[in-house]
Amino acid sequence: MDRDELAAGSWVVAGGRPDAPGEPLNHPLVPASTFLHGDERLYSRADATTGWEAFESVVGGLEGGRATAFSSGMAAVAAVLSTLDVGAVVALPDDAYQGVAMLVDRGAEQGRWTVRRLPTADTDAWVAAVGEVDLAWLESPSNPLLEVADVPTIASSPRRPDSVLVVDNTFATPLNQRPLALGADLVVHSATKFLGGHSDLLAGVVVAPAAGTRDDLAEAVRTSRTLEGATPGTLETFLALRGVRTLALRLGTAQASAAVLAERLSDHEAVTRVRWPGLAEHPGHELAARTMDSFGSMLSLEVAGGAEAADRVCRTVRLVRHATSLGGVETSVERRAALPGQEHLPAGLLRLSVGIEDVEDLWHDLDTALSGTPS
Ligand SMILES: *Cc1c(COP(=O)(O)O)cnc(C)c1O
Repeated sequence: MDRDELAAGSWVVAGGRPDAPGEPLNHPLVPASTFLHGDERLYSRADATTGWEAFESVVGGLEGGRATAFSSGMAAVAAVLSTLDVGAVVALPDDAYQGVAMLVDRGAEQGRWTVRRLPTADTDAWVAAVGEVDLAWLESPSNPLLEVADVPTIASSPRRPDSVLVVDNTFATPLNQRPLALGADLVVHSATKFLGGHSDLLAGVVVAPAAGTRDDLAEAVRTSRTLEGATPGTLETFLALRGVRTLALRLGTAQASAAVLAERLSDHEAVTRVRWPGLAEHPGHELAARTMDSFGSMLSLEVAGGAEAADRVCRTVRLVRHATSLGGVETSVERRAALPGQEHLPAGLLRLSVGIEDVEDLWHDLDTALSGTPS
């Protein structure tokens, strides 16, 4: 089936499926490192095993480009960075995903490039920077403050012809934001999160524009996967493909629940602030309403009583899981400032990844934990 014929919710189910008579409905799991000579496919580090191509075709179709799957989100990030020449200048959000910030900082310490840090929501600063840097890295909405970057304005500002604008689209998912259509050159995902959706695998994706645009970039990203060996595992790809089939269903439920919880949490006496781009009072709300189809299922709340009260919520929730990561079917909560390197965040800030449980059960659990009366 073709992507143009189908809505996203149908495409995630039908994209990349086997179609020849007698084939199984789903791609089988093929544990093979090598293949018999006589065909193009030789060795699994370089050549697609059965499931990859299907997963890449689903995600590429959603983003409107060519996807390359990786063994993790960070492997995807590293592949993009590996395309830079020595001495490049990189612009990075000052609240970039911590792993990305650490990897970019390490490269700077090694003398591979220099880094400029800019606030995600400071569009003027980004517009000025993209004319000067070799790589501009945006992440929107950002983690965990849910700031929104003006991707279309930044992407359409005068840029150096060979410069690269990357958007980490992990939080938004391609159902809510398609950075290539907004003018970005590459999209990065941690497929560990929403695309996989079940907290049972690590995977990443880089999406380049469709053939004919920036072919150099698409080629460089693929080559770095092959040479650096960051190929996704067979089982992981099988699970990622199975997971992405329900992306529209999961995200639809999760973001509808996020809307309910964001409103109710805003009125909760134990909560001082809720950050969710769908709230009218969120600083990035109007921009998100313009550039995104919907607002996603990630939100942050600040608990009155700071770190101690927030930690108590994490210990008290029963349905909600106290765990890192995000984008799974289960709702999870984490006090981000408790993590090393995240001490700059508000001490009482809890990041909530809303899952697909019944919203009234979630509300009951959160309300009970916030009210300090263990159930
Ligand atoms: C998790 C995450 C990554 C890194 O992905 P892994 O799959 O953990 O390697 C990158 N960017 C964002 C926004 C993430 O949430």
